Amino acid sequence: MAVSMVGKPLSCDEHTLISSRLEYAYVCVEVDASMSFMHNLNVENYLLDEPFTAEMVYKWKPLRCHNCKVFGHSRLPPPPPKQEQPQNP
Ligand SMILES: [Zn+2]
Repeated sequence: MAVSMVGKPLSCDEHTLISSRLEYAYVCVEVDASMSFMHNLNVENYLLDEPFTAEMVYKWKPLRCHNCKVFGHSRLPPPPPKQEQPQNP
């Protein structure tokens, strides 16, 4: 499945599973947090003379931190550490 180039396929809808809908595939994909999202994918099919470019549409993208390479928070820098109050002598 071409979508495996985007990430690890987890599930898809019934139409995608039985290939009853040719316009698009609807797939849930686990994406590596260190990889950028692909937006176009060259698909080769033995039924076609030339590969075609499939457009990737993401219905939902979680927050991702490019610094930590994890999902769950954005790459906004953390707030600066609080200054220690100087001790009065
Ligand atoms: Zn982070």
